[in-house]
Amino acid sequence: MKITDLWATKDKPTISFELFPARSEKAAANLARAIDALAALQPDFVSVTFGAGGSTRKGSYQLVKSLIQDKGLDVITYFACYGLSPEEITSVLDDYQALGVENILAVRGDAPRDKEFEPHPDSFAHATDLLAFLRPRYDFCIGVAGYPEGHIEATSKDKDLEYLKMKVDLGAEYIIANYFYDNAFFFDFVERCRGMGIDVPILPGVMPVYSVKMMEMLAGLCGATITDELRQGIAALDETDKGALTDFGIDFAVRQCTGLLEAGVPGLHIYTMDRSKSTVGIINRLRDAGLL
Ligand SMILES: Cc1cc2nc3c(=O)[nH]c(=O)nc-3n(C[C@H](O)[C@H](O)[C@H](O)COP(=O)(O)OP(=O)(O)OC[C@H]3O[C@@H](n4cnc5c(N)ncnc54)[C@H](O)[C@@H]3O)c2cc1C
Repeated sequence: MKITDLWATKDKPTISFELFPARSEKAAANLARAIDALAALQPDFVSVTFGAGGSTRKGSYQLVKSLIQDKGLDVITYFACYGLSPEEITSVLDDYQALGVENILAVRGDAPRDKEFEPHPDSFAHATDLLAFLRPRYDFCIGVAGYPEGHIEATSKDKDLEYLKMKVDLGAEYIIANYFYDNAFFFDFVERCRGMGIDVPILPGVMPVYSVKMMEMLAGLCGATITDELRQGIAALDETDKGALTDFGIDFAVRQCTGLLEAGVPGLHIYTMDRSKSTVGIINRLRDAGLL
């Protein structure tokens, strides 16, 4: 089902989970267990990332295929165009189309950090170019990424929104927002989008705290602010209690999601990092509270 049709017809907020393809056999076994636990929550859809430069092309395809065919889940396949030629882009997307994929999220991606990679000379510089290329060629329901705190390379938040508006004008039908640890960033972002005439659904991304190291690393990459409230809450935890951080992360995310749901968001998109414990805890708590 096209995700926009789902939002148009469903009277409750959607729940959805982001996954990425496993990079080792051990990770694959963990991912399989996580998928079973997450699928039991009956999400409205899941999403699968795609490594820039085509680095996870095969793994992403296999994961999407198994989620659709073995688990019967609706999937948004992310697609990052960085480094790929127009021919490679159509080759990847034709495969997804043949699989019955109806929804994609079109992003630019970033230069891979861990290896020498030569981008194709005809690869696109921005997601706007990708949108212009895709829209006339495919009937996918296409979404794009949005950044409540501004994209890390953006010269200003206003300029960033101008490009986001351009992506919507080029045919993007929904936006998935990067995560944030203060809902005020998201509410302000939505208000500014609406003020610019961006009227498509904007789905907030929620990143539970899994470990301090991961939180710092990811925030450093995407520019998400680690708020004082979050830092102080973590600093007050008993370091000898192994489960304390996960429980704190669940509590923090439940409070965040409660605020988002009360504000009427179309759904919650949880960045699972291929783990299930926190997401299961969060969704069950929100369901018990009658919020989902
Ligand atoms: C929900 C979500 C999912 C993601 N999934 C993936 C994934 O699967 N794989 C992956 O590799 N990465 C993924 N990313 C990360 C994303 O690829 C990076 O954040 C990347 O740096 C920017 O992608 P973009 O599509 O926003 O790029 P763009 O829209 O091209 O924006 C990048 C920068 O360029 C500016 N800009 C945009 N258009 C123009 C233009 N026409 N001219 C000049 N400047 C412009 C923007 O303001 C911004 O500063 C995801 C991000 C999010 C939020």
